[in-house]
Amino acid sequence: MSLKLVKKLHSGSPLSLGGLLFQLRRTMSSSTVKEFDYLVIGGGSGGIASARRAREFGVSVGLVEGKRLGGTCVNVGCVPKKVMYNCAMHADFIRDHADYGFDVTFNKFDFTKIKQSRDAYIRRLNGIYESNLNGSKVDLIRGFAKFCDSDGTIEVNGHKYRGRHTLIAVGGRPTIPDIPGAEYGIDSDGFFDLEDLPKKTVVVGAGYIAVELAGVLGNLGSETHLLIRKDKVLRTFDQTLSESLTDAIEKGPVHLHKKTQIKTVEKQKDGSLKLTLDNGETLEDVNTLIWAIGREPLTAELNLDLVGVKSDKEGNIVVDDFQQTSKDGILAVGDACGKYLLTPVAIAAGRRLAHRLFNGESENRLKYENIATVVFSHPPLGTVGLTEAEAVEKYGADHITIYQSKFNPMYHAVTEHKQPCVMKLVCAGDDEKVVGVHILGQGSDEILQGFAVAVSMGATKKQFDETVAIHPTSAEELVTMRGGVKPKI
Ligand code: FAD
Ligand code: NDP
Repeated sequence: MSLKLVKKLHSGSPLSLGGLLFQLRRTMSSSTVKEFDYLVIGGGSGGIASARRAREFGVSVGLVEGKRLGGTCVNVGCVPKKVMYNCAMHADFIRDHADYGFDVTFNKFDFTKIKQSRDAYIRRLNGIYESNLNGSKVDLIRGFAKFCDSDGTIEVNGHKYRGRHTLIAVGGRPTIPDIPGAEYGIDSDGFFDLEDLPKKTVVVGAGYIAVELAGVLGNLGSETHLLIRKDKVLRTFDQTLSESLTDAIEKGPVHLHKKTQIKTVEKQKDGSLKLTLDNGETLEDVNTLIWAIGREPLTAELNLDLVGVKSDKEGNIVVDDFQQTSKDGILAVGDACGKYLLTPVAIAAGRRLAHRLFNGESENRLKYENIATVVFSHPPLGTVGLTEAEAVEKYGADHITIYQSKFNPMYHAVTEHKQPCVMKLVCAGDDEKVVGVHILGQGSDEILQGFAVAVSMGATKKQFDETVAIHPTSAEELVTMRGGVKPKI
């Protein structure tokens, strides 16, 4: 907006720089409020998707972004993480080369090289996002927004904007614990700034990020310790997956410390960290400590109280099924709402919202059911639908049948190092509708999407079985399992 103005003033009159600034300041004085049909705060997954879809319906759209376009996913999340996961997969395969008959000499791994190519890729994506916004004619406003009036007006770098509808899509940030020395650790954002592979790393947490980053670092050759405060990772997942992945991690290369928490962190003279644990032991000579214990919404600085937008005690914005906040005309999607912190969820909610607001589709909304998700662990796992425990609670144990299979995938038939494969179907009712699919093992990340379609269509076990298997694959197990049992829960 201001750029356009600069160009206009420049082309029209031969102003001095001082005169130009004066004109600019006067035109953009705080009393001027630029109006949009749709004003989006946050240029991440949800915000960009919603803004661009709204433009397809011909309304005027402004989008405010304080950092790099693309948000968490593109800059410090899914994208650089997947590059690093792919990188670590090479290490996995190198380990098996000899078993497959290759005599390959492994010299060294150059962390800096992959970091540089990864950063360059992300810079390209940032540019693509900007040109896509320009192409869609979304007005990009650079800076951080906060509400400055109870009518929903926002302020960005001293300029004011108002939307007929305003979308909050500000995402979140990593949580850092409140313990002495916590500041010596880094978070997942800091992981992506690392220039070298740390010699010794400690990762704290038991969720997606802890498991994924520990897997990457451990497989790339950092001596990696994963500290979990309970006895399993991914405890909110189906118990079979949670237990199987915990067992797989215990086989190495990551050192898993169960029921362990850090009490204090001290920086040593040589720059390394000394961690004192709650069991009295210490971990010394730690080069990098990574906190991965959850994320919190970036809502504190928005002045939500001023406009009457309610949030819960963690700061997550409270929305109804249609992404509507407690204030008319203000909506929210994505991580800022604290539910299913996943990129495709933010995108889907944002796009459907644009259809509802600007294309007369009054019932269009994201239904938060059967959302498939994958953890890029070693081996990867995927899950869609109800866990066994959730299904028992919803339908009663008598109405649930479990099909489960654990095996060595054929890839590992000739390798010394082995990773397990686990496949589980949770079925409900006499017709055995498949209400949950939970898989762990090589390829699970790519297998799951198709089965998510079947689950969301309400497929039954019989329909799974009527599908001819693809052989030899791990996925064929999902359409050939026999011998259903009642839940043990
Ligand atoms: P974000 O993408 O975070 O975008 C919010 C944007 O708003 C940011 O760009 C921020 O700078 C901006 N902003 C904040 N406050 C303001 C303000 N006041 N004014 C202006 N701009 C503001 N999800 C997956 O589906 N698959 C994965 O593999 C995956 N891996 C992940 C790995 C990591 C390490 C992390 C941290 C997350 C991962 N996620 C993954 C989660 C995914 O990144 C998020 O769910 C997704 O980015 C949420 O999108 P969003 O639009 O809600 O927020
Ligand atoms: P998660 O919510 O997945 O996991 C955090 C876990 O850390 C908690 O479940 C808890 O497990 C443990 N924890 C919490 N507090 C502490 C503490 N004080 N000390 C030790 N451990 C603690 O959060 P993440 O940060 O891993 O990821 C945030 C979200 O980002 C994810 O939920 C996911 O939605 C998204 N994401 C998605 C990815 C993907 O799609 N592949 C990848 C990465 C992130 P417990 O109670 O068992 O101790």
